[in-house]
Amino acid sequence: MHDPSFLLFDIRKPDIDVWHDEPGGHDTFTVCGHPEGNRLLWAIRHWRHLRIRFWPYLHVKRWIAERCDGCGRRFAWKEARFSYQSTDKVWHDPCMSLRHVRGQLDDLTGYVLGTANDNARWRAERRLSHVEKADSKETR
Ligand SMILES: [Zn+2]
Ligand SMILES: [Zn+2]
Repeated sequence: MHDPSFLLFDIRKPDIDVWHDEPGGHDTFTVCGHPEGNRLLWAIRHWRHLRIRFWPYLHVKRWIAERCDGCGRRFAWKEARFSYQSTDKVWHDPCMSLRHVRGQLDDLTGYVLGTANDNARWRAERRLSHVEKADSKETR
């Protein structure tokens, strides 16, 4: 795997990463070698190759750019974002719930209309069987 970057320092407060990028896009350690002895002195010698990421700034940048995939609106500062593992998209809490309910409605609509695929039919039948069980408990 080609990777010209490695993490040289990881400063927790105030949350700064210092990366060393191998010059010319070469693989890590192939041009400059491993940092030996004092890392700070090594870093000073290689200061031209360093890339600093300041996380508070990146959080602000992300916050400005990020939109909810459900309603298209922004998030409040530090508002929780909800997502799935398979996607970069994010949602507000209520938008995520709405999406969930919409999915169930689509399944049931498809089931009733006979247009549902196997997965959707399976989910719809499972859901209906739960509803039936809950009903029979109440009438008993
Ligand atoms: Zn270097
Ligand atoms: Zn939203």
